[in-house]
Amino acid sequence: MKIFDSIVLSCEHATNVVPSCYKSLFHGYQKILQTHRAYDIGIRQVALYVKQYFHCLLFEFPITRLLIDANRSPGYRLYSEFSRPLSKPEKERLFRQYYQPYREKVTDAIRHNIQQGKTVLHLSLHSFTPVWKDKPRYGDIGILYDPSCPGEKQAAIRLQSEIAAHSNYAIRRNYPYRGISDGFTTWLRSFWSDRDYLGFEIEINQAILISAHPSAIRSLTNTICQSLHTFMQ
Ligand SMILES: [Zn+2]
Repeated sequence: MKIFDSIVLSCEHATNVVPSCYKSLFHGYQKILQTHRAYDIGIRQVALYVKQYFHCLLFEFPITRLLIDANRSPGYRLYSEFSRPLSKPEKERLFRQYYQPYREKVTDAIRHNIQQGKTVLHLSLHSFTPVWKDKPRYGDIGILYDPSCPGEKQAAIRLQSEIAAHSNYAIRRNYPYRGISDGFTTWLRSFWSDRDYLGFEIEINQAILISAHPSAIRSLTNTICQSLHTFMQ
């Protein structure tokens, strides 16, 4: 059974880039820019592999989430302790110059496909730290979705079993976060039903992405892509 017929990729935490006009905000704190707090370590390479596999659109947010977080909805914590001290006009500039155009581009791409009669699978790609607040996290791949959407639930269960059948990865659903917590996919679900839009956050353990040889990361990505591909037959 075909569950979706087009894929849109997004990567809200792809990079730790700080535009030169904001560099002074991180004076004395440059080391933080190399950590998970600034970006999702290793996920960009995964995103590029997935894009190559499906020949689909990939949207990458171009600056660090420590300036403005593209995976938070307006009204949530868009700004970090580094950008919160900025004046209101400066924050609005970050919003208008980076946040708004990025979210609109992804939304427009999804809308365009839906208007063509397609069911869109939106994969928002992320990585998570293996240890959080001194507690280890378990699992290699997390699939985050809304369990109250039958289409998403069915697809998530099937994706989990497909990956498990073809690899030794530990796949968990709605781990390490809940799929209904604030995020880009949660926000987008409010516009369409799961007949048109399936929004998954895919979370990959950074322990794999940091330690593995590039060929192992490609292999992991291929496993995920091949599992998704069976949905499109
Ligand atoms: Zn992320």
